[in-house]
Amino acid sequence: SKGIQIEGLSKRYGSGNTAVDALKNVNMQVAPGEVVGLIGPSGSGKSTLLKSLGAVIDPSAGRMTLGDKVIFNEGWQVPDLRALRRDKIGFVFQAPYLIPFLDVTDNVALLPMLAGMPNSESRKRALELLTALDVQHRAQAMPSQLSGGEQQRVAIARGLVNRPPVILADEPTAPLDSERAMAVIRILNDMAQQYQTAIIVVTHDEKIIPTFKRIYHIRDGVTHEEAGEGRGFD
Ligand code: ADP
Ligand code: ADP
Repeated sequence: SKGIQIEGLSKRYGSGNTAVDALKNVNMQVAPGEVVGLIGPSGSGKSTLLKSLGAVIDPSAGRMTLGDKVIFNEGWQVPDLRALRRDKIGFVFQAPYLIPFLDVTDNVALLPMLAGMPNSESRKRALELLTALDVQHRAQAMPSQLSGGEQQRVAIARGLVNRPPVILADEPTAPLDSERAMAVIRILNDMAQQYQTAIIVVTHDEKIIPTFKRIYHIRDGVTHEEAGEGRGFD
């Protein structure tokens, strides 16, 4: 895996007088094994960048590589992109979209099951992550019975369970207290190390910002890189 490479990425919404340049020549690299922060005010282009990587929208210009695959070159369309990025990216969304009729374990175990892993092994892997996230006592609960913080931790487990080479996390720690936020960061760093995952964490969370070694700031669609405090997570 070569991690994430973004070169000269631009996105224009609309055209003419009402055009919005949401990304302007963005360059970004995340190495395998690295966890980087992406920080910027509302409207700065964070979602547009994640949606470009996730093939939800097609960028206007530039080039992107995930792992060993080119997933975007100028002129490519979203349907091409979706096929290419399948199985490559784990998402941790801000609002946890859990499946209401599956219990917590099966919400997490579903992806490995669909990928062909035996049910018992999928559930075992799900439980390991739920334990690491301190929500194992809710393993048999239904999503509607969980608190917001518990739902968020289950959604994190689901985003990580398939050990994808790339993880995009959108405000993963927002509803969590310090201790649990740090546990999430520790797990992301462990995953990165163990499986050579490249991880981007979009965040405003002052609790976790000092843990990053490298941070991309984004403002009006322009990114710049900065060394973080890199204090770690213990
Ligand atoms: P953030 O996630 O940092 O809040 P966004 O990527 O959502 O920023 O938005 C970046 C800019 O692009 C903003 O000016 C926003 O208004 C604009 N924008 C986002 N989505 C659309 C869209 N579908 N159509 C037109 N403009 C959009
Ligand atoms: P569908 O595949 O049914 O068209 P969507 O258009 O909602 O569903 O999303 C397509 C894929 O993009 C899904 O796999 C989803 O996980 C991912 N996705 C949805 N929203 C975002 C987002 N804001 N950022 C990154 N990826 C997203």
